[in-house]
Amino acid sequence: MITAPASHTMDTEILDGKGLSQKIKEEIAIEVTDWVAQGHRRPHLAAVLVGQDGASRTYVDHKVKSCAQVGFESTLIERAADVSQQELLEIVAKLNADPSIDGFIVQLPLPDHIDDQAVIEAVSPSKDVDGFHPSNMGNLALGLPGFVPATPAGIMTLLDRSGIETAGKHAVVIGRSSIVGTPMSLLLSRSGNPGNCTVTLCHSRTQDLAAHCRRADILVAAVGRPGMVKADMVKEGAVVIDVGITRVEDPSAKRGFRLKGDVDFADVAPKCSWITPVPGGVGPMTIVSLLNNTLAAARRSAALA
Ligand code: NAD
Repeated sequence: MITAPASHTMDTEILDGKGLSQKIKEEIAIEVTDWVAQGHRRPHLAAVLVGQDGASRTYVDHKVKSCAQVGFESTLIERAADVSQQELLEIVAKLNADPSIDGFIVQLPLPDHIDDQAVIEAVSPSKDVDGFHPSNMGNLALGLPGFVPATPAGIMTLLDRSGIETAGKHAVVIGRSSIVGTPMSLLLSRSGNPGNCTVTLCHSRTQDLAAHCRRADILVAAVGRPGMVKADMVKEGAVVIDVGITRVEDPSAKRGFRLKGDVDFADVAPKCSWITPVPGGVGPMTIVSLLNNTLAAARRSAALA
């Protein structure tokens, strides 16, 4: 609980993605122990990392470390930034065909000379634990079973496990990317719990963004512009989910930068009923969803064997 300034009456609660992700990882670890005790091999996630982008390396390192924490096997395949598209597609084809791999991800963004979409479409939908393949996106749009992209899935889990009521609420999502904003809008609007929201999807061409945001009971910011959401864009009592992660230079920080969200936390938090911090909010939930997708892939492949 944080204390609201005198001008506000709201008691704000922090959506602690870090703490919840720890708890869910412990639950997954128990499931894995049971799975292995039943005679199955450990779920196995592979990650392909291209180039030396610092943020991508950090994300992949977290994913590999999290696999070890829950008892998964993991394999990291690294290539230099000048890898050819042909070689990358061959790696994808090998992973598709390898029966010891349950699911894999190709960390985005890829270098400019590689067509991201061609790589995404080369991944077998049954191993596409990032949920980016058109077939999984199509299933999501139709409300059919399939892999759901990890970040929006993690946000749904965060809402669910925090007991936040979503039915009938007005949700505003800022950002329409195919990995965050668009699937988020689909999940919030679909029939289910959490879900059943009335959704407004805002983007770079939206006029009077602030007016839309002020109508949100649930506001999800997924843009990548640090601090763009200010208190005057948020309704009193709103649930605010900050997906943005931007490295902002800060010579006083150990690594020379700090991670900043899209929401001006100090300004906005006192008005919210719930808010995610950055870091420690949505990011850790993303990894938990990837683990859940991989466990589901392992169960599915064992059922088909
Ligand atoms: P993106 O660049 O693909 O999409 C950004 C979206 O923001 C676009 O749809 C664009 O229309 C919209 N936008 C840009 N300027 C705008 C404006 N002024 N007003 C309204 N909308 C505007 O980005 P992305 O991949 O969706 O990622 C968004 C942010 O989320 C980034 O900071 C990224 O690092 C972060 N991210 C975090 C996680 C996590 O696990 N926490 C996962 C994925 C992405």
